[in-house]
Amino acid sequence: MNDLISQSKINLYLSCSKKYFYKYIERREPSNATNIKNLFLGLFVHKAIEQFIRNKKIIFVDILYATLKEKDLFLTEIEDLREYPAKFFEFIKKNMKNEYYTQIFEQKIEELKTKTNIYPSTFDIAKTISEEVIKYCQNLFKNFVKIETEKRLEFGNILGYLDILAITDDFQQIILDFKTTKKEPTIQKKIQDILYSWLVYKLTNEIPKFKYIYIKYTEKEPITCEIKEFDLEYKEKDFEIIEDLLENFKKGVENNVFLRNEGSFLCNSEYCEFYNYCLSYKLEKN
Ligand code: SF4
Repeated sequence: MNDLISQSKINLYLSCSKKYFYKYIERREPSNATNIKNLFLGLFVHKAIEQFIRNKKIIFVDILYATLKEKDLFLTEIEDLREYPAKFFEFIKKNMKNEYYTQIFEQKIEELKTKTNIYPSTFDIAKTISEEVIKYCQNLFKNFVKIETEKRLEFGNILGYLDILAITDDFQQIILDFKTTKKEPTIQKKIQDILYSWLVYKLTNEIPKFKYIYIKYTEKEPITCEIKEFDLEYKEKDFEIIEDLLENFKKGVENNVFLRNEGSFLCNSEYCEFYNYCLSYKLEKN
């Protein structure tokens, strides 16, 4: 196995190895659109933080543009974009330089004018939670002497992209990871934290601290946003798990062990972009 291994590949393999097979082995096109709302919000918040670190201020239209540009996904899932308020579309239409995006927004204006939305738009939620997160970051960052965003780490064939790698004023490395959620966050260790801590350790010989920052938001008016932290730190002996995990993952892929995980809460058309391929299998089975 010579390809780079990321935590998202390992997570995907563990959550449904059949989905891993469709995505990374067969490289199939998605069979259906999925709900991109939480993904959009997560990306938007990350872009807002990045922009704040770079420019010490945030401009929402630039953040939206950067968010849409980042993922081709948004180009294929246009339906979800109709949640934006018409006013904003008109603003985008005038300001957007990229013709493709302009067309996308234009097509939806008529629909939006007639839509009675009792929920706030995804964009309004994104704005509100980004403002709260930036306030939180302003305080948090006061304790850091160095901050790097979207930090790429590579060791052997293991790859990781850290939201933020910072150095505190007592010269301790700390990884920050932001998560958006509608539900009460389940505070627990994940593959991501141990893998990223291990990567930093391998590259710098120092075990970093790790902080998850959960952003819990409401979807109904008034939009509220609650930020919760979860701190953890590994010891050198904990990293033995990584070797076992990587070994199991590599063996599974090399021996073509790709099984459907139909019992997973992610096994539905809202979360799995390969659901329709499995649907024919499900129908045959019945
Ligand atoms: S539909 Fe379910 S079983 Fe099929 S790939 Fe997706 S998550 Fe796996």
